[in-house]
Amino acid sequence: MKKSGFTLIELLAVIVILSIISLIAVPIILNIIDNTGKSSAEISMDNIDEAAKLYYSKRQLNNNYIYDQTIFRYFEGEFINDDGEILELDGSGIEQGIITVNPNGTVEYDAIIINGYSCDKNNNEVICEKYQPLSTEAKIKNVIFMVGDGMGENHILAGEIYNEGKLNMQTIENSSHVITISLDYPTPTDSAAAATALATGKKTNNSRLGRIKIDGTYYNFEPNIIEYANSYGAKTGIVSTQKMNHATPAGFSIRAAFRTDYIKIAKRQVQSKVDLILGGGQTDFQDSEVTSLTEYQNFIYVDDFTKLKNCTLTSTCEITNHTIDSKIIGAFAPVSLSYRDDYDYSTRPSLSELTTVALKRLETNSNGFFVMIEGSDIDRYSETNVSNGVEKKRNLIYMLEELNDFDAAVAVAKNYVDNNPNTLLIVTADHETGNLNLNGITSKQELINAGNSLFEAGRNHTNKNVLLYAYGEGASDLTKNGTIDNTEIFDFLTQGFDNYHKD
Ligand SMILES: [Zn+2]
Repeated sequence: MKKSGFTLIELLAVIVILSIISLIAVPIILNIIDNTGKSSAEISMDNIDEAAKLYYSKRQLNNNYIYDQTIFRYFEGEFINDDGEILELDGSGIEQGIITVNPNGTVEYDAIIINGYSCDKNNNEVICEKYQPLSTEAKIKNVIFMVGDGMGENHILAGEIYNEGKLNMQTIENSSHVITISLDYPTPTDSAAAATALATGKKTNNSRLGRIKIDGTYYNFEPNIIEYANSYGAKTGIVSTQKMNHATPAGFSIRAAFRTDYIKIAKRQVQSKVDLILGGGQTDFQDSEVTSLTEYQNFIYVDDFTKLKNCTLTSTCEITNHTIDSKIIGAFAPVSLSYRDDYDYSTRPSLSELTTVALKRLETNSNGFFVMIEGSDIDRYSETNVSNGVEKKRNLIYMLEELNDFDAAVAVAKNYVDNNPNTLLIVTADHETGNLNLNGITSKQELINAGNSLFEAGRNHTNKNVLLYAYGEGASDLTKNGTIDNTEIFDFLTQGFDNYHKD
């Protein structure tokens, strides 16, 4: 490489100035690609001699851009051009991304989108290409949006090894990576901020659901994808193996300042645009604060899955006043469906059974549907919680069983897409959990023997990118960029809905 025209101290001074300028909302960023008009650049990861981080965040609020949490650090190597040029942002594209290069040259994150470029890691090389925001001509009537909570790329590979064959999701041809970071970076996202990004197209801080707090004031992100679908007359549903007012289904359906305000969240879900709520959560959804709401009367509450299944799929129905169009709160466990330590696991409905019932109930509407389906406890069994030297939570085999439960539901959804045009299936994750690494393991027995040691001790959520599989209407458009930010999916889906309904 050529010698830099700047000394390190000069560059640091520039960075400090940049940070100050960014505080007064004048958007300036170090140009990471040379501006000679090249549409792509190959960036060698050789000769990285210091840990380096590059982070830039822009969040949108009521059509205004807010610039904050800007951290710039200099990359050795060729990541920043030799002149260290400074570029004014033009506001186009997705200006958000992170990459961490460790002293040994390894790249912690797989890919970034920054300053109009999308970069993907391939071994030790990062390839950046001019980034085009997603657009589609697809006409999307139905969306099945599946979230494997905490399901990183290595979780899926571990599933393949454990099953000694590909998962259903791996048979989907169109895939890309998704950036998961929240505004709390470098702290990894939680499920609430991630669900908010997926469901509203906007970043927020951890714990927030569909809203953001700026200078002491809360601002709502409106609409979320469920409200958007509902505005076209589509039916909507949330399905989870967790309690239905847990972070992910909550982030798709309502707004709240704190993800742990469970009763408040359940009340807002009852008052939301959701027609179908299936999962755990009997205790919260039978709380008098929830059941006393006028809107609660619009739903039929069901705690026996067999009854709901029979009413949905057969002509035998024991639920009073039930029709296939009835709004349903189906709660099939006191809390989560898969808390094996405090619930009889054998009696829970599988996620694929819940999915079958949900699709049958939602498809009755000629305006289509949106449903979010979450395999929640992939995350739970990847999280660590050591007490008195004993691991209370993390369990690789339970995680893999939950992953299989989720993947079986993917098969149901995939089959639905095969038989129903204008349907898009998305299978992705909100974040990775546990920094799972396979350490070269290739056989099932090795995997079982290694067990929890494949997770990083003491580590919960990470900033790793996750995979996204897309199947059906618009799938190739959604995945064509290789890497997207989690905020881009919302815009893509609303385009697809618009195309279908405005035709
Ligand atoms: Zn999560």
